[in-house]
Amino acid sequence: MKKEVRISKDSTHWVVAFYYIGAIVNPAQEAELQKQFLSHLDVSCRLYVAKDGLNGQMCFVASDAKKYMDWMLGREQFSSIHFKAQGVDCHVFPRCTIKVRRELVALGTEVDFSKRGTYLSPEDWKAKLEDDSQEKIIIDTRNDYEWQLGHFENAELLPYETFKDFREYAKGLKERIDSKNSQVLMYCTGGIRCELFSALLKEEGIDDVYQLQGGVINYGQEAGSKHWKGSLFVFDDRLSVPISEEPVETIGTCLHCKEKIENYYNCANMDCNELFLCCHQCLEKHQGCCSSECQSAPRVRPFSFAHTPFRRWYNYAAKKDELSSLNPKYVGKS
Ligand SMILES: [Zn+2]
Ligand SMILES: [Zn+2]
Repeated sequence: MKKEVRISKDSTHWVVAFYYIGAIVNPAQEAELQKQFLSHLDVSCRLYVAKDGLNGQMCFVASDAKKYMDWMLGREQFSSIHFKAQGVDCHVFPRCTIKVRRELVALGTEVDFSKRGTYLSPEDWKAKLEDDSQEKIIIDTRNDYEWQLGHFENAELLPYETFKDFREYAKGLKERIDSKNSQVLMYCTGGIRCELFSALLKEEGIDDVYQLQGGVINYGQEAGSKHWKGSLFVFDDRLSVPISEEPVETIGTCLHCKEKIENYYNCANMDCNELFLCCHQCLEKHQGCCSSECQSAPRVRPFSFAHTPFRRWYNYAAKKDELSSLNPKYVGKS
């Protein structure tokens, strides 16, 4: 690594996030190579290999994290990867998943990465946010449930359901702003989405596009919490993390009672599975559901405070018989 990773010595595990954009000649072979190397380490992860790059969210015991990063950085092609690491005290992914994907991020469209936006280091990003001399628009390229937990001041959330709609958004943005005199700043969790979206914006004729290098994770570690409100949503068992050691106010609110809260749950109705913020009282009152319709739906998981989002129901109970006895309405497959 180019930079020292600052992690408390007490952390037994490291969550390591990275991506690589560039041609992977043989994704299946690369996935196999990753599997072989990781089979010797204590790791849980989601690692995706595609013809246009790699995307990894991984959790290792501390010593194995270093082994993995050294191995990757020692390979010529991957020597400039920027790893982002945070300390935790246990594994945060359910298992070690390594998959070949058709596209690194499902956009359903070809993107010319050579056109991507200018990187801003966390310090430069902060300075740009504080510079009032220029018209600017700040775009959050994440999902709405990520936004609800925390985001940059004055940012706008992409008003679309899927990232495939981004090209439409880009066209609308071009018409809405004075693209000669406005700057577009964009950010996401770890930086990968902005690589794609900044390129799309430029393809649509918006020239002055900047992206936060390393995403919000990097900003928190390098520049602190200034201009950020709330916490950061992450796609692992932690779900919500502070972006730095500086205290921040909670901005997330319970879907049912609007109390300030940062706890996410998947709706217990398996045919809904919507991720929503909920307080403890409302969770119990609504039996883990996002709405009364969901509460009376046919395939509802038995209610439990211990439910961890992103896990399938069958990970929670030893036997399927047990599930049926807990919830007589359960008729579906798991
Ligand atoms: Zn509530
Ligand atoms: Zn629901």
